[in-house]
Order: sequence, then structure tokens, then C-alpha cells
Amino acid sequence: MNNKLCGMLPDDLQIFLGPHGYDRSHVTKTMLAIYRKRINHISLIQGIPKALKEMLRADFITGIYPPCKSAKSVDNTIKYLFRNDKDLEFETVYLPDNKRKTICVSTQAGCRMGCPFCVTGRYGFRGNLSAGDIINQIISLPHGDEVSHVVFMGMGEPMDNIEEVLKACKILVSDWGLAISSRNITVSTVGILPGIVEFLKRSDCNLTLSLHSPFPDERRLVIPAEKKYPAQKIIDIMKSYPLMKKRRFSIAYVMIMDINDSDTHLEALKKLLGDSPLRVNLLPYHRVNSDPNSSSSLERMQFFKHELTISGISASIRKSRGEDISAACGLLASGLGKK
Ligand code: SF4
Repeated sequence: MNNKLCGMLPDDLQIFLGPHGYDRSHVTKTMLAIYRKRINHISLIQGIPKALKEMLRADFITGIYPPCKSAKSVDNTIKYLFRNDKDLEFETVYLPDNKRKTICVSTQAGCRMGCPFCVTGRYGFRGNLSAGDIINQIISLPHGDEVSHVVFMGMGEPMDNIEEVLKACKILVSDWGLAISSRNITVSTVGILPGIVEFLKRSDCNLTLSLHSPFPDERRLVIPAEKKYPAQKIIDIMKSYPLMKKRRFSIAYVMIMDINDSDTHLEALKKLLGDSPLRVNLLPYHRVNSDPNSSSSLERMQFFKHELTISGISASIRKSRGEDISAACGLLASGLGKK
């Protein structure tokens, strides 16, 4: 039997170890060895009895595996390709920025949301990743122990794999896990309502909704999920949800020249988001291959930011990273794999 320790919660391991006389301290030491010390062989776990190691080795593997490829950008962003034991391929991006070290993780191999602007969407859906696959994207990396922020903005729609995403969030924030503050963890969605409801109830991490257009008919063209789950409804839920201190709800708005950066779009955005604590992240558009569209100019983005801010809506411009290696979060080009 090859159960994997990476991705397990203490209660799951306790069920296995308890009948053999091992207590919570043994469980915690094992969890810390995996998640914090990133020990990739059970025989190397310290501070637990030899007999326990033997027992674990008979039934478990650590579940920590390295990436199979990587590409480094001129701005030091690194994109990694992973392949798990089900032969699913997925990408992870490491974004160092002074003291802030962010990892952008994938939650699925491919995606079934079919957003036409997204290379992952065109790749189709291959399978869900387990919580262990998600956590491994952090702890197996050479810089894994330096990570301060985690964003779920890689391949896949997190709310379409919500149970594994919630489990991964729990491992990220717990003292027996990676102990990263929940305010430094952001899950991004195109707006899958049932998943969002569960996420709001069962996690304290931040939430970002990819909007890209304030007009439902236009948004439907770039985000097909709008048909079933209108952004207006999700924004209403986000606006009315009692925000705990420091939990952040935000709106991602990729700015495309002459497509969604008109004054009419700006006014509609102000109307949609006014009177709420929602923040707006304005992102440059990444062209892919022969794409006729291009990003709005920096001046236009700054104008949007200024206008939103003076209307009382908190707005910021996110800088572009890793363009030369197609590492834009949510737009992973999958150029590393064997596709
Ligand atoms: S933008 Fe996100 S939800 Fe849409 S297809 Fe790409 S990965 Fe999936």
C-alpha cells in the first residue's frame, strides 16, 4: 500500500496510528517532518521511534516529488513543470520580489471552464490534483522554505476542486503544516458559486473573482461560467459577507486595449463595485501567439486606477512577471510539457 503523507491531515494519520499506541505528538512530529522540514524519505524523520518509522514505511510514502522541468525568466520568476503518479502534468510559478516570495499553484491539470483567452482552457481538462499534489508544488521546490505568499491562480479552477483546495489551505495555515498566515493566501476563481459558498464558510483565506468585464453579455464571451453563475450575484455575496479582520476580497480585471478599457467600462465598474470593501487589481493583458489583442497602455491603467480610487474603490496595478517564460498566473502557456 502506498498512502501518501503529503496531503494528509493529522486526524487522518491519527486514525491509522492511534490503534498502535501512538499519540498526537507522534502525529504532529510526522506532519512537521513532511510539511516544514520537507523530509522526502520516511527513514530520515527525526524524533519518532524506530518502530513507528518501520510501520510508516510499510504503508506510506512521503508523497514529495520534484518538478521535472523548469524555466527561469530574466526577472527571476521560475516556472516549474510537475508530473504526478497519474501522469497528470501541471505548472507552478515562483515569483520572488524582495522579501515577498510568492508561489502560484495549480489545482487541476488543465481546466474545464473553457475561457477562450486562456491557454490552459484550450488545453482541456485532464484531472483534479490532490491536496498532496498542491502542497508538493511548494515544499518540493528549492525555495519552498522561503515562501511567504501562496496564490491559487495556476492551471485549473480551484472552486471546481474545492475539497482538495480546502484541505490544502488547511495544511498551509496550520501550525503542524506550513504555518503561513491566511491573509497571505489567495484563491482565485472565475466564479463557481457552490465552491465559493463552501470556501467562504470553511476557510479564512482571501478570495479573488476574475471579472474582466462589468457587462454580463460581454463577460460571458470570455468567461463562459458567467452563464450559470453571474458575477453580479457573486459580487453581491462578497459585498455582504462579514469580512474578518485582514481577510481580503478582490476583483481581478485584465485590461485589454479597446476591448474592456473604455470610459463606459470604467463607469460600469464603479457602479458594480461602489460602496463595498472589494479591491480591484488591474492586470496587464498577456498576448499569446498570434493574438490580435494587446494590453491597455500603462497610462490607461493608471487612469482606471485613479478614477476608481477617487470613487472610493481601492485599486492597484499588478506588474507583469515572467512574460518571457509564459508564466502569467491563470494564463499558463504550458510550453514546458509534451503537449
Ligand atoms: S482562466 Fe482559469 S478558469 Fe478560465 S480556463 Fe483558464 S484556468 Fe480555467
